Amino acid sequence: TVGLLVLDAHGNLAAGTSTSGWRFKHPGRVGDSPIVGSGLYADSAVGGAVATGDGEEIMRVCLSFLVVEKMREGLGPALACQAGIRRLKALISEGGGEGERQGMHENLTVAVMALDKEGRVGAASTLGEHNRHRGRPGFPFVVWKEGLGKAWVEEADDT
Ligand code: ASP
Repeated sequence: TVGLLVLDAHGNLAAGTSTSGWRFKHPGRVGDSPIVGSGLYADSAVGGAVATGDGEEIMRVCLSFLVVEKMREGLGPALACQAGIRRLKALISEGGGEGERQGMHENLTVAVMALDKEGRVGAASTLGEHNRHRGRPGFPFVVWKEGLGKAWVEEADDT
């Protein structure tokens, strides 16, 4: 998934996602990416969020909406993203007795990015440790600010 969050000079926030779907996507499967609240959400009064990774899991907690609501409660973007992923892991653990979900949060592949109405950004991911084991960086995202005339790469917090 490619997720995009934009804040314009008038304070309008927008979120967008584009995805080919999960690997080996079944025909007709609708993932989280086009579902407002799950794969993306924006409220100009608060902030926006976009998610990537295991869509079926992201949908279970309406992750992007959850992260925006965490910002509405006063958390900054990075902490809101961490709280969202922790909530998802907790939900998966709660369902742990059901067999197939047991231990699943160890394999959970999810990242979420957020931008608030002040222009602050943050992201959290379950992929950092997994990637670093393979000699890759943690989950990266790109930030661009008009006026600074440059873009740079940041790394999501491991969660
Ligand atoms: N979230 C997407 C899906 O489940 C997959 C992805 O992040 O690429 O369809």
